[in-house]
Amino acid sequence: MNTILSKQALTGLSEEEVLQQRAAYGTNELPTSKPRSFFAIAWDVVREPMFLLLVSCGVLYLLLGDRNEALMLLGFVFVVMGITLFQERKTERALEKLRDLSSPRALVIRGGEQKRIAGRDVVCGDIFIVSEGDRIPADGVVLDTSALSVDESLLTGESVSALKSVWDGKSERASWNGENSPFVSSGTLVVRGKAYCLAQEVGMQTQMGRIGKSLQSLESEETFVQRETFRLVRIFFIFGVSTSILVFLLYSLTRGDWLKGLLAGLSLAMAVLPEEFPVILSIFFALGAWRIAKKGVLTRRIPVVEMLGAATVLCSDKTGTITFNRMTVRRILLENNEQFLCDDSVKEFPEAFHKILEFGILASQRDPFDPMEKAFQSLGERYLRGTEHLHDEWSLVREYPLSSEMPAMTEVWESKDQQHYVIAAKGAPEAIIDLCHLPAERTAHVQEQVRALAKEGLRVLAVAASEFERLPLPGIQHDFSYAFLGLLALEDPVRPSVPLSVRECHEAGIRVIMITGDHPRTAESVARQIGLERPEALLTGVELEAMDDGVLCKKIATVSVFARITPEQKLRIVQALKANGEVVAMTGDGVNDAPALKAAHIGIAMGLRGTDTAREAASLVLVDDDFSSIVSAIRTGRRIFDNLRKAMAYVVAIHIPIAGLSLIPVFFHWPLILFPVHIVVLELIIDPSCSIAFEMEEEEQGIMQRPPRNPRSPLFGRERMTLSILQGCGVLLVMILLYYFSLTHGKTVSQARTLVFVSLIVANLSLILTNRSWTKTVMGHLKSVNAAVGFIMLGVVIFFIACLNIPPLRNAFLFAALSWKDLLISIAMGFLSILWFEILKAVRGKQLLDVS
Ligand code: ADP
Ligand code: MG
Repeated sequence: MNTILSKQALTGLSEEEVLQQRAAYGTNELPTSKPRSFFAIAWDVVREPMFLLLVSCGVLYLLLGDRNEALMLLGFVFVVMGITLFQERKTERALEKLRDLSSPRALVIRGGEQKRIAGRDVVCGDIFIVSEGDRIPADGVVLDTSALSVDESLLTGESVSALKSVWDGKSERASWNGENSPFVSSGTLVVRGKAYCLAQEVGMQTQMGRIGKSLQSLESEETFVQRETFRLVRIFFIFGVSTSILVFLLYSLTRGDWLKGLLAGLSLAMAVLPEEFPVILSIFFALGAWRIAKKGVLTRRIPVVEMLGAATVLCSDKTGTITFNRMTVRRILLENNEQFLCDDSVKEFPEAFHKILEFGILASQRDPFDPMEKAFQSLGERYLRGTEHLHDEWSLVREYPLSSEMPAMTEVWESKDQQHYVIAAKGAPEAIIDLCHLPAERTAHVQEQVRALAKEGLRVLAVAASEFERLPLPGIQHDFSYAFLGLLALEDPVRPSVPLSVRECHEAGIRVIMITGDHPRTAESVARQIGLERPEALLTGVELEAMDDGVLCKKIATVSVFARITPEQKLRIVQALKANGEVVAMTGDGVNDAPALKAAHIGIAMGLRGTDTAREAASLVLVDDDFSSIVSAIRTGRRIFDNLRKAMAYVVAIHIPIAGLSLIPVFFHWPLILFPVHIVVLELIIDPSCSIAFEMEEEEQGIMQRPPRNPRSPLFGRERMTLSILQGCGVLLVMILLYYFSLTHGKTVSQARTLVFVSLIVANLSLILTNRSWTKTVMGHLKSVNAAVGFIMLGVVIFFIACLNIPPLRNAFLFAALSWKDLLISIAMGFLSILWFEILKAVRGKQLLDVS
């Protein structure tokens, strides 16, 4: 069948040639969602209310003739911008990396070896291999195909898939590919078959590039937590704007100075406008996705980061995720019970087993990717090399692929010295028994043999042989008459980390369900090895088919192993679990897994084995296909959510004393305490604390020993909100008392202000420290202060030393010099203001974490 493709052509490009090609034609990417430029980000910052407020305060000071104050505020504008830019760049970069990693992969031949690389690394002249479920990585021509069929609807809108032919070596790409053409286009999807192709155009030169469509977008959609946050923002916003107007009116009317009134109003607005919340969300999600990526799990849909911590059921494939998918043939068993034990020490391979191995190899692809087929081939190289049982020179006429109804595949071969086609089939024993039309007692005997092998956790395949006249071939495998040859049993070792991860899940209240297309006894044995609950109570696909949804829902509450399941049935499993109110994480790799992956709350595709179709349907991609990575992602998900709650608690709490200290003096006709500069300083502490410092916070102890959170329980329920408002009120009360007593005990206004401000900053730090953990007290947790918290504390200390000792700075902040005694009192008051919460933590222990 193939004309152009010789063995030599298959070595592909060398690394040097790859570099040359890349230099000449660029990388294979479309300028999709390009990282935003510095100016775009800066423009966004400029439009933020905080920025506008700062500038208007600065202008007001100029109007009031206070140039120093104005310059200082305008100087802070740059600091605020700097912090925002830093945060934005950090998130952008994290997202960019993810986009790169979760983009399509391509299988190429370079330097004679098959390699899986990122789609963007494909260059002109690369030979790439595509099979069912893959996206074509570049525009190219087909060099060799076994029934490659491509869905080109992305480019044409045409929904029927086009069968491809082999390139004659000269025809030029016409304006259109279509049916029977040898041309394939980047971005289109392989729906059937397999092919070797030569890349001719990459990146912007591809058809896709020229129309400017892109697939690599990272979807973002609004989640529960986001909606809830926006609600909070709205409440704060309305509250902030209305009180600011109130303060402005009150001040102007009672004191007759509307410019100062405006200043008081604006500074209050600066204090209470909730611009932190959306920032916190985007930073936590983006950095969360990046953290999870470091554990080997890529995020395709950002909001799923939030769902991870809430997962209650984890459904996993067996082969490749729980096991390595590294197959070795362990036994060959003939129908007459003659058995060959494969072992490195065995040199002799008895004649009786030659034929079954020969046909096992013939029933495989020529250069196999499937680990089972690789195992057959390597066994063949070892024992059959030099015999008449290996047929390198035969050519493949047709392949009947695996399907969910018939888990067996047939390959039809043509040889020069034989009159007829030689036909080999391998597959699940039931399927092969069916193809061979074995009578009842032989069927029973073989099934008994299979069970015995499967009980040891081995995967069992049966092999059959047939021949056919050189006539048009039938449409389905059933129309051949096969002879049954025997059974091959393969070992696929369980990943050693899995039993521990399963135990971790169970402790964390997460059920683990194993789903496999394998034999029930094999499934049971593996389930036992990894410690699943009730491995013997498994359900098979056939049993599942016979159940209606109601029965399935009931059954699924206790069954944790599913065997001989087709990908289509995974969807029913997901739906039944969802109907039971579970939050479902589900893994998958194949094209047919896509619906189940989409339906699951958390769809997880495989990075190594997975098809692009599965990846596109999934919200997470497992880089190394390892089950344990999912568990660490769940762990990280829980931590992110905890930290998000802590950050929110802190932000709500700290704004109460700031707002209170701005409002109360206006109402009671006291001298003002806080001016715009003070608020800016506070914001400069609050901003990096709530985003970076809380984001970095370590996980709570026992994070995987508590049940999953209820996904519908709010990020910020009534009790939590109350606790955090109380924290803020505590601080406010202490500050007001401090101010009042200072003024009534002979301090000047500046001295009183200085006392209160020092105390407020200390209280602010205390709020950060106390909210870092809702289980451990500040003291018990001080050892593990993270870098960001450390920096913030250091910064604050330096700021105060400078402010209180350098007269011009002191004046700019309207401070006065203090005695050591007064300073110590105000520091102590700051700490005392959150003492009650510390005591509560010490008394209530872990219970506070569960507060809704
Ligand atoms: P799993 O869920 O464990 O990955 P699969 O759905 O991939 O299982 O496969 C289900 C069954 O189909 C296997 O147990 C095997 O009997 C059969 N099968 C899978 N791959 C092949 C193959 N390449 N050739 C023949 N049979 C196969
Ligand atoms: Mg599989």
